[in-house]
Amino acid sequence: MKNLYKSEEAKKCKSDLDLRVYTSNLLGQSDELVLHGGGNTSVKTKVDGEATLLVKGSGWDLVSIKAEGFSPVKLDTLLEMAKLPELSDSDMVSGQKAAMTDSLAPNPSVEAILHALIPYKFVDHTHADAIVTISNSVNGIANIKKVFPKFLIVDYVMPGFILAQKIYEMTKDLNWDSIEGIILHNHGIFTFDNSAEESYEKMINAVTQAEVFLEQNAKIHLINKYEPSECDIVKITNLFSKAKGYEVSININQSPLANYYASQENLREFASRGVLTPEHILRTKRLPLIMEDTNLERGLENYMSEYKKYFNQFSTDEIMLNPAPNYMIIKNLAIISFGKSKKEAAIVNDIVEHTMMAVLRADKLGGYKSISVEDSFAMEYWELEQAKLKK
Ligand SMILES: [Zn+2]
Repeated sequence: MKNLYKSEEAKKCKSDLDLRVYTSNLLGQSDELVLHGGGNTSVKTKVDGEATLLVKGSGWDLVSIKAEGFSPVKLDTLLEMAKLPELSDSDMVSGQKAAMTDSLAPNPSVEAILHALIPYKFVDHTHADAIVTISNSVNGIANIKKVFPKFLIVDYVMPGFILAQKIYEMTKDLNWDSIEGIILHNHGIFTFDNSAEESYEKMINAVTQAEVFLEQNAKIHLINKYEPSECDIVKITNLFSKAKGYEVSININQSPLANYYASQENLREFASRGVLTPEHILRTKRLPLIMEDTNLERGLENYMSEYKKYFNQFSTDEIMLNPAPNYMIIKNLAIISFGKSKKEAAIVNDIVEHTMMAVLRADKLGGYKSISVEDSFAMEYWELEQAKLKK
């Protein structure tokens, strides 16, 4: 993949934070690295003489983040938090907030402790398609180890405190110079360096290596299997608006990739294998509605009753989200995404586009395999997400 770093541009940066903004924007420009709010970055620097982590604030996108989008958090406090035997994610968020040196800055990313633990100035984290494609396959760990022998490979755990704690345990006796980066299985990749340029370049190089591996082992030829016909937009909009409880906007995808994907044999099993990186579940849910016949009402009803079963199987005291799907695959017709606005529906569609390609490629590596249903539920019903609902 293309390295977008330009020395002339970087030279205009007057501070560590300026440089951090610059290479964060570069990462954000490549949608094969991060999509819609995904990924995060940080820089360690001194603020008023105190060691401080400036980390991406929640609600900011890497592509457009500015200096004020970074949250200043006392580094020592974050490092102390990493050593706690346990901490709920809500308490972690309050602890991080309390350690902010500017109370008007946005809330720090939930990966702030992890960023603090990495003893380099610049830390870059993405959900690069090529990396998660290899990782999300039945031989994922083995293939990742083959492509990245010098990376620390971390088995999947829930993002937030559990992940930070795991990294703390895995690295407390580690010589950091012996590793080139960290790969979080089924989630993404971290690179780091004391130079912003090097940290960015390490990301580009690692992802390029993964892309080369896929090029050699998982080449896809998209074949148009059917002539696209029209969707009944009015019927779909009415039906899903009723199920969602608001007027839905819909995004219809009939691209060559969508065409090929929607024509697969055993579509139900094929397209029901979970998300590419955990946070996507908040946009797409774990599963789409898959329509192999024309009875849309019945299809939607079945989906919602299956969703309720899934909720009841894993829930303790959570509030159930609306059980209607966030996207639908109609066999030999289209992929349709839903949102409260055109923009929201387009975001779901973008994530689905990237997921479809990854699923097809991972199948060439032996079979696409994402996190378990239980782990998916834990993410979808994360206490931090639930807290927003309970407010
Ligand atoms: Zn992540």
